[in-house]
Amino acid sequence: MHKAVRGFTLTLGLLAGVAQAQLNYRIPEIPEAASGYQAKPGWQLKQRGVAAANPLASDAGYQVLQAGGTAVDAAIAVQMVLTLVEPQSSGIGGGAFLLHHNSEHVQVFDGRETAPSQATERLFMLEDKPMAFNDAVVGGRSVGVPGLLRMLAKAHEQHGSLPWAQLFEPAIILAEEGFPLSPRLHTLLSADATLKRDPQAAAYFFQADGQPWPVGHRLRNPALAAIFKRVAAEGAEAFYQGDIAHAMVDKVQQHPDNPGLLSLQDLRDYQALERDALCFSHASTLSPSNQVQVCGVGPPSSGLITMGQILGMLATDSSNHLPPPAWSERNTVVPSTAWLHNYNEAARLAFADRAQYIADPAFVAAPALDWSVMLDTGYLQSRANQIGDRRIPQVSAGNPGGSLQSLAPMADQTEYGTSHISIVDGLGNALAMTTTIESGFGARLMVSVENLPGGFLLNNELTDFSFVPQDDQGRAIANRVQAGKRPRSSMSPTLVFADNDTHERGELLASLGSPGGAMIIHFTTQTLWAMLHWELDAQQAINIPHSGVAGANTPLLLESGLFPFATLSHLHVLGHAVKEVDMPSGLQALQRQGSAWWGAADPRREGVVVGD
Ligand code: GLU
Repeated sequence: MHKAVRGFTLTLGLLAGVAQAQLNYRIPEIPEAASGYQAKPGWQLKQRGVAAANPLASDAGYQVLQAGGTAVDAAIAVQMVLTLVEPQSSGIGGGAFLLHHNSEHVQVFDGRETAPSQATERLFMLEDKPMAFNDAVVGGRSVGVPGLLRMLAKAHEQHGSLPWAQLFEPAIILAEEGFPLSPRLHTLLSADATLKRDPQAAAYFFQADGQPWPVGHRLRNPALAAIFKRVAAEGAEAFYQGDIAHAMVDKVQQHPDNPGLLSLQDLRDYQALERDALCFSHASTLSPSNQVQVCGVGPPSSGLITMGQILGMLATDSSNHLPPPAWSERNTVVPSTAWLHNYNEAARLAFADRAQYIADPAFVAAPALDWSVMLDTGYLQSRANQIGDRRIPQVSAGNPGGSLQSLAPMADQTEYGTSHISIVDGLGNALAMTTTIESGFGARLMVSVENLPGGFLLNNELTDFSFVPQDDQGRAIANRVQAGKRPRSSMSPTLVFADNDTHERGELLASLGSPGGAMIIHFTTQTLWAMLHWELDAQQAINIPHSGVAGANTPLLLESGLFPFATLSHLHVLGHAVKEVDMPSGLQALQRQGSAWWGAADPRREGVVVGD
């Protein structure tokens, strides 16, 4: 049991001569986390709540809501605590997409990393071939300009109500007092071969004999506490200039065998962006009008478009709406073979378009100059017509909007990091935010200040670009590396609304999202499908076993040990090369139930929902 319950008042404002900020954060009593698959019942909430990947993070967000904070205020507190307690997944050294809703509009805050100004399309190329993926990841080369803090500052300016400094109080206190190392962090530390090559990370995460600290060990992070205090008092700019910026640049540029290009200028110039959300309509009995509107993040994320294509293709076949057979062992439902076949054929067609077209819109034009042509009902019907009883032997990209682009498709790459946060604040605001340093532990570089132990990890987001800039015929790849460009993402923070007859957005029905690299798209789409068509609650929907493809012509992946043998062999007969693998999604969701909410967190990770 982690039993310290203490009250603290941190007068951050006094440190910097700004208005005094007090949250009176109290370290909660949390049950010791268990490892492995943890069945979760779901959480009933009346008005507000926070769903995040770690109990300390969810609780910090909830304390902010209790103090009168908005969803954005809470998200900032959650994110700072996650930087500390779930350092493998996200943090101030990385980037995020925040999808925000209030009574007026749905907005995207884009804090995606950018490629440094000195980067060229050959960043990950050896003479005539691409680098091995892990060789590219570890070190300075893969580090993009971190976008998280400027993005949060922008969102806070528009939608925050508590003072910025106050929102750092939980993370500062936990960094100074220490937090219990979680089973998942311990497992990932034990499995990681490269993190301890970084002396700062080795001294922080590992004992003298090279073993990671045990589960429950109280880990203190003085360097991160010092950095948080500076950013709390001086604003996000303290991170982008001065000695924190110098420490990042030194770490990247002076890496002994794989230096990178991040510069002080890049940090100064980084801009978080505000974008319109991209939305599509989808038929569902969950809404009184039988239509919902699904909103998310368009390019540079491939999330919303790929989700919309898959859902749109599935919607053309009414047999997909049949509920799947129940499977009792884990009190969850397992999709039928017919549905798995149809879903994954639609996914292959959607992933072919994703590989061909989607990249940073500041560098690559949308097909027919409008991304929405990729979601056009007629186009999706024509794509879905290719789906038959057996697996399509070879799938390629279509021509949305009649576009004839001479682009080459990008090869598939796999990743697994990231964290998802869903919040409703009871004040009329809600958000879905997916946040990442890319791989587990990012570039394996820990940045510190003032020679203090600990610090934060830098992202390896640039490996989300295509390593190869063009194909054999010299056709460019949309998602190739270019200076200042944002790498294509799969992150899919999603908000679902009731749609009225005139296709205007009605009441918010759900907020959800997940980590999982390219698999994020499947985790989120399947959860949504189960909520929209199988009438499962968000927790039951998250629990269903996953399947998916990482590319248009790659094997069909099924979550290990969760599908009956008959399903595997039937899929094989239909022509699928089936592979069973672990799929540790980290879904979090909040779902409207009348005037109240139902919260859900993934049994595969350590997330919980806290609220009232
Ligand atoms: N970097 C990935 C993306 O933005 C997410 C990484 C992951 O979830 O593993 O799509």
